[in-house]
Amino acid sequence: MKVASTAVGLASERVRARMVERVREQGVRDARVLGAMERVPRHHFVDAALASRAYEDTALPIGFGQTISQPYIVARSAELALNGRQDLATLKILEIGTGCGYAAAVFAQLAGTVVSIERVRALHELARDRLRALRIANLRLVFGDGALGLPAAAPFDAIIAAAAGEEVPQPWIDQLAPQGRIVAPVGANDQHLLVVSRDADGRVHRQVHEAVRFVPLRPGTL
Ligand code: SAH
Repeated sequence: MKVASTAVGLASERVRARMVERVREQGVRDARVLGAMERVPRHHFVDAALASRAYEDTALPIGFGQTISQPYIVARSAELALNGRQDLATLKILEIGTGCGYAAAVFAQLAGTVVSIERVRALHELARDRLRALRIANLRLVFGDGALGLPAAAPFDAIIAAAAGEEVPQPWIDQLAPQGRIVAPVGANDQHLLVVSRDADGRVHRQVHEAVRFVPLRPGTL
């Protein structure tokens, strides 16, 4: 990814490297994921007024009551979705909840194709503007209700959600390729990161991971 080597660019590379080091210390070990986090300029996705806080390991507001996810969570979700797979070049990922587009840009470093869907039109357009300058050829943004998945582009090797429902919507499970994995926060007040995987025989398995806090998955579009 091209980042201008201005003074701001160089300073942000150093603070970004520290952010990635903190993510690693929190337990993310997939070097490909850490490399992707190094390459994507998170400050590019937040408002200028918040740019100085872009490399803190925290969620930040992006408007419309929504947030840019915490760096650790983006990395952890990617690591759980990849699960050590080696066939990244042909991998197809669906992200639910584009927000400002940061996680989509990270996932696009790790897969052949990424499609990201957002239900708030103004955020879909914001992400499109923020991503334009980064020229990520393998990333497609869609406006729509991600609770329905995206049947026209299915099946997906991974579906990664950035918003929490009370259950994993059935369409996501239906749109999962064999050996595919859903990584989604699930729960109302007490949320956990859930992995739903489909094995080679088509059987579905569930694993509950750490406690998390995401914005809610909401129906319909806005
Ligand atoms: N991926 C973002 C996080 C955005 S926050 C990042 O990189 O930081 C979660 C987003 O999910 C919000 O923008 C919210 O509008 C969106 N969302 C909630 N329910 C949705 C749904 N049913 N379909 C698509 N997007 C949804």
